[in-house]
Amino acid sequence: MRILVLEDEFISRNVMMEILSPLGHVDTAETGTEAVEKFRKAIEQGEHYDAVFLDIMVPEMSGQDVLKNIRMLEEQFGIFSLSGTKVIMTTALGDFGNVKAAFKQQCEAYLIKPIDRDKVLSTLDGLGLIRKK
Ligand SMILES: [Mg+2]
Repeated sequence: MRILVLEDEFISRNVMMEILSPLGHVDTAETGTEAVEKFRKAIEQGEHYDAVFLDIMVPEMSGQDVLKNIRMLEEQFGIFSLSGTKVIMTTALGDFGNVKAAFKQQCEAYLIKPIDRDKVLSTLDGLGLIRKK
């Protein structure tokens, strides 16, 4: 499984890496722009991400805008919803209103911080990704 994590906070990023690394290949991005660029490159190289975790509060571009860009890129490259990336928004409870808006833009799930292993694994399992290598 190929995973991209957008998270601007060092500690949170490391927590995500620790949880996700045993599941497959994990790339990280610290800004929205970097995440979109990595997503585009992965598609161009035929290595589309299976899952993308998007922190909503990040520099340069919000997680929602990254999500919009991701869905636009998929459309541009002819990748449609069933084979598309599963997008999981990550957010502080105070930003939950933002998360609801994100659902309208086609994310598959959300996680309220603090993130822990159980939350991440059960979410991936719920999306049918956990057995995928
Ligand atoms: Mg953040």
